[in-house]
Amino acid sequence: MSQYDYLIVGSGLFGSVFAHEAYKAGKSCCVIEKRDHIGGNIYTEEKEGIQVHTYGAHIFHTSDKKIWDYIHQFADFNRYTNSPVANYHGKIYNMPFNMNTFNKLWGVVTPAEAKAKIEEQKKEYYTEHPQNLEEQALNLVGKDIYETLVKGYTQKQWGQKCSELPAFIIKRLPVRFTYDNNYFNDAYQGIPIGGYTQIIEKMLAHADVHTNTDFFDQKEYWMNQADQVIFTGMIDQYFGYQLGQLEYRTLNFETKVLDCDNFQGNAVVNYTAYEVPYTRIIEHKHFEYGTQDKTVITYEYPATWSPGDEPYYPVNNTRNNQLYLQYKELAKKEPNVIFGGRLGQYQYYDMHLVIAEALKLAEKLL
Ligand SMILES: Cc1cc2nc3c(=O)[nH]c(=O)nc-3n(C[C@H](O)[C@H](O)[C@H](O)COP(=O)(O)OP(=O)(O)OC[C@H]3O[C@@H](n4cnc5c(N)ncnc54)[C@H](O)[C@@H]3O)c2cc1C
Repeated sequence: MSQYDYLIVGSGLFGSVFAHEAYKAGKSCCVIEKRDHIGGNIYTEEKEGIQVHTYGAHIFHTSDKKIWDYIHQFADFNRYTNSPVANYHGKIYNMPFNMNTFNKLWGVVTPAEAKAKIEEQKKEYYTEHPQNLEEQALNLVGKDIYETLVKGYTQKQWGQKCSELPAFIIKRLPVRFTYDNNYFNDAYQGIPIGGYTQIIEKMLAHADVHTNTDFFDQKEYWMNQADQVIFTGMIDQYFGYQLGQLEYRTLNFETKVLDCDNFQGNAVVNYTAYEVPYTRIIEHKHFEYGTQDKTVITYEYPATWSPGDEPYYPVNNTRNNQLYLQYKELAKKEPNVIFGGRLGQYQYYDMHLVIAEALKLAEKLL
């Protein structure tokens, strides 16, 4: 007889939602986490009275009322609306691309003027069959938007020239012909008042949780602790990289406490010029309309991933997607182990989708 019904590897959102549902169904769970804290990438910690998003800005958004109600069991949310701005050579442009952006770029005032300008720009550089990301972006939005707001940022993010990146990375570049700076089209969005960590703490309240515990240090021991394993770490690592390594992009974060009350006037500022080494600066207090005397900011630097680095973004090119499918086949044959979450399924998932996936799994198993 195993000690637990479920061993959950990883205390991120996926594992924690599952643990909460399992507890409700009368099942026992043990959660192991290799980091020194729970929560995975949605972890927030308090500095100077400000909730700091340790692993990058996290804005909760969904159009699914069920998911919105579900997350509200664990925290109250504020009315934060994601309206990032882009800084290009000291000039500020609104995102997503909208009438404010077009007015700043070209002085156009009406949607008809903006549409005409974009059409003119698209025609000038149109390519019948775009072969790379640069050609694709020029087809979608034309030269000015591409060069001011897309090119440098994308090159920094992927560590490669846009002319060398595959076209599929950018399928759409939404343009909005209203003066609406709201980044998301979802019906609901906000930031949990008091941060995300409290949500995970509540979800894991009834599980046995071990932080600073890497599954691979004692794989056999942990496998024997439960009838079934929910694994939310890297799927290729689970199989000892026997078919090859999946690739990721990583991020380096540099956080500073500043002796001023307002550094940039917005939670998220994207830096779109290639020469600026970081892609974004996050000023955390603005997520919760903070009025503290000090402020905390984080510079975000994209970087090449090597084994041992945090794997933030999967690189879903043809090679990696095919390799993942091969690992998925191995996973199907693995008795009593289920692979979930962004690393277990080698997929970028926003939080609302991770919750939906974990609830789906819980419904199936419990
Ligand atoms: C920079 C960035 C910004 C984002 N912004 C947003 C946003 O604004 N809105 C949004 O909806 N989503 C956002 N996301 C996505 C969000 O972070 C994910 O949806 C969510 O964190 C995924 O949860 P998870 O449980 O699948 O993975 P994770 O949070 O990665 O959890 C997996 C956990 O498993 C642990 N683990 C791995 N291997 C082992 C092992 N061998 N032993 C023990 N533990 C292990 C890890 O340490 C980690 O804690 C963002 C993601 C990133 C990277």
